[in-house]
Amino acid sequence: MNLTNRKDIHDLMTVYGIAPRKKYGQNFLTDTGVLDEIVASAELSGEDVALEIGPGLGALTERLARAAGKVIAVEIDDGLIPLLKGTLSDYGNVSLIHGDVMKMDLDALCDEHAPGKKLHVVANLPYYITTPIVLMLLEHGDRISDVTVMIQKEVAQRMQAEPGSKEYGALSLAVQYYCDPEIVCRVSPDSFYPAPEVESVVIRLRGRETPRVTVDDEKLMFDLIRATFNMRRKTMPNALMSAGRGFTREQVEKALKDMGKEVTVRGETFSLEEFAMLTGLLTSKTLH
Ligand code: SAM
Repeated sequence: MNLTNRKDIHDLMTVYGIAPRKKYGQNFLTDTGVLDEIVASAELSGEDVALEIGPGLGALTERLARAAGKVIAVEIDDGLIPLLKGTLSDYGNVSLIHGDVMKMDLDALCDEHAPGKKLHVVANLPYYITTPIVLMLLEHGDRISDVTVMIQKEVAQRMQAEPGSKEYGALSLAVQYYCDPEIVCRVSPDSFYPAPEVESVVIRLRGRETPRVTVDDEKLMFDLIRATFNMRRKTMPNALMSAGRGFTREQVEKALKDMGKEVTVRGETFSLEEFAMLTGLLTSKTLH
């Protein structure tokens, strides 16, 4: 059985009475060159534990099982579980977990499967849920060494965007605070079965030793970032008064003036360094 051959995939799914499910973002990768490149760029060794989100039919999983010491594969679709048990039966180092990765306790998973180690996340992510998954992984940076994932090209552009561009937002700031993003390769829709409607890229997010800026209250900085981009077209004072931290207009305007900014400035031009500086100026005024 060749998991990258379209006819074999079709026949295999027919045997199990299933078909690719759009609602779970099922676009199976059929390009062996791309599969091999993903695994090579993850730089796994026999000591490493890989976490794959959404093994699908198992084409990437079997390659990860050969490259890593252990693979944890989390799949939401109950229809795929019996099929995966078959396709992965030769790989004793794969733990298949049936569940929704967004509802899992990643700390407990790491304690159980990778005690004393950090996970290497490698996946062809479901596109309907890419951003929440990546933000969840960033929040668990202490348990994750690096993330090598296939994502929609537009999401990769948002991750790498610079201040002032239309792609720039909370995702750009979160990714660039914790990681150094690097594009591994571009992938066309015809590398998948069925073909997605969008272009894709493989991106590698390597966790930084220390975040890109120093900030006393990380949570406050991300609350400010979220409030700013939730109200993208509003001026900073208007947006930040809704950050849920009880700031008054005067407090925000004073902080902006201390930074040499106009009070009519919009946050979409603010760099990570400037959000950190603003956080410092507002920290003493936090009510919660
Ligand atoms: N890894 C396979 C490949 O490369 O061919 C499949 C990738 S497919 C783009 C995405 C996979 O993620 C599907 O198997 C889908 O069922 C699974 N998935 C979708 N949402 C999920 C979730 N919340 N938790 C775990 N798996 C999920």
